[in-house]
Amino acid sequence: RGGTAEREVPFAKPGSLTRVYAVASGKGGVGKSSVTVNLAAAMAADGLKVGVVDADIYGHSVPRMLGADGKPTQVENMIMPPSANGVKVISIGMFTPGNAPVVWRGPMLHRALQQFLADVFWGDLDVLLLDLPPGTGDIAISVAQLVPNAEILVVTTPQQAAAEVAERAGAIAVQTHQKIVGVVENMSGLPCPHCDEMVDVFGTGGGKLVADGLTRTTGAEVPVLGAIPIDVRLREGGDEGKPVVLSDPDSPAGSALREIAGKL
Ligand code: ADP
Repeated sequence: RGGTAEREVPFAKPGSLTRVYAVASGKGGVGKSSVTVNLAAAMAADGLKVGVVDADIYGHSVPRMLGADGKPTQVENMIMPPSANGVKVISIGMFTPGNAPVVWRGPMLHRALQQFLADVFWGDLDVLLLDLPPGTGDIAISVAQLVPNAEILVVTTPQQAAAEVAERAGAIAVQTHQKIVGVVENMSGLPCPHCDEMVDVFGTGGGKLVADGLTRTTGAEVPVLGAIPIDVRLREGGDEGKPVVLSDPDSPAGSALREIAGKL
């Protein structure tokens, strides 16, 4: 919408009833997008009206994981987002040809996010999830500016070294005055398919480490909302666009994710 005034972000207006969660991580590959998509699908299955903004502009992967292969359409001057598994979703990948990379600097990212929030017709959502890029870059700052009421959900693995990085991603909340809703520990052990013994592939304790660290830095209690084991069905669900919370809700990962969704 070149040249026209920017629309207000509806979710940032006083009295907005939509709960907004920005899903953050320190590093890539810890399962942030998988967690986002599964929480969204679980909440939609519970009857909530849910939207997801794939704000991981360079690493966009949400539509595939959610099975959203539709394209956005334009109605008057609003963008209608496609939906899949009961979740409305918008992603930069829907606007780039083929698998073209996004090569943008901060101001362009800010503008894209502004449009995703204000120019997309979301309707009355109960919950909006933002899948942030890993780390503490431009997008995290833009989210804080555009939706200051967004609460941060931090995803980490149990690994101590990863936890330190994740804690920094969450600590941005101190400067932006955002609330941290909690920490999700993902890839928390692999149940042996032969004997059921837990193999702690990435160690233990990362989630608690991040939650305790963020409780100290923010001065507000930050809980560990849950731990999700390594589960082939979760990965397959992501690859096939059928979130594990729907395809196998009682699997170890599926039930852990549904329990976390219930706390949000
Ligand atoms: P991020 O968004 O943090 O970069 P992704 O959600 O893309 O991470 O996950 C990275 C890869 O790990 C994906 O292939 C995903 O399917 C897989 N994965 C994530 N969490 C789990 C898990 N608990 N069990 C098995 N595979 C997982």
